[in-house]
Amino acid sequence: MLLQLKNISKGYGEPGTHSFRPVLDKLNLEIKKGERLSIVGPSGSGKTTLLNLIGALDLPDAGEVIFNGSDLTSYSKDRLATFRNQNLGFVFQLHHLMPQLTLMENILLPVLAHGKTSKDDKNWAEHLVRKVGVWEQRNQKPAEMSGGECQRTAVVRALINKPELILADEPTGALDEENATALTDLLLELSAEEGVTLVTVTHSAEMANKMERKLTLKNGQLH
Ligand code: ADP
Ligand code: MG
Repeated sequence: MLLQLKNISKGYGEPGTHSFRPVLDKLNLEIKKGERLSIVGPSGSGKTTLLNLIGALDLPDAGEVIFNGSDLTSYSKDRLATFRNQNLGFVFQLHHLMPQLTLMENILLPVLAHGKTSKDDKNWAEHLVRKVGVWEQRNQKPAEMSGGECQRTAVVRALINKPELILADEPTGALDEENATALTDLLLELSAEEGVTLVTVTHSAEMANKMERKLTLKNGQLH
């Protein structure tokens, strides 16, 4: 088992007061290594909240997040940051590329976060950049690239440290239909090739249906 969420509860506001809003309610989830999973659910149902807990970007009010046997809720902030950088890749609705850096510099940023870039890193980056079809754009900045190219670059950045798990929050949400289909296929192809586990939150029925497993978040639980 790669990841287990055990009895996760999470809300916002001050517990015990009127301001408190429960979002996740004793939620359980088990994800096997290599699995490709989609999570759907209405806006406001807590999909981003759930993904942020899986990705250790936020902590639950109660429950455990167990990654490869270790409970992430017991990690210090520093240890979590290192854990995320080495084990997880994130893709968001907006690409969040750095505007002042070129495509290649953006991709290698997560590598620089834990040391110098090696020849292997550069070869791996080149392989991925060619694979997703943005090699011609490698020295361009995000403002000089299309939305689809930026989002494909964000996928490469998510893969650069060879993560075990990719978390994608509405990755096709800002793309037109053609680019959305291309990005979905790319995520599926690359996760299969690299044996990376993929969890994607999506509004797109097309994307959700292409995943091997589909869960719906409703009333704070997965069904
Ligand atoms: P989804 O991604 O499914 O649209 P979210 O996880 O973003 O849902 O939000 C779930 C609920 O929690 C919503 O009602 C939202 O308003 C609320 N919420 C999300 N983040 C915060 C926050 N940082 N502070 C207060 N409320 C929040
Ligand atoms: Mg969301």
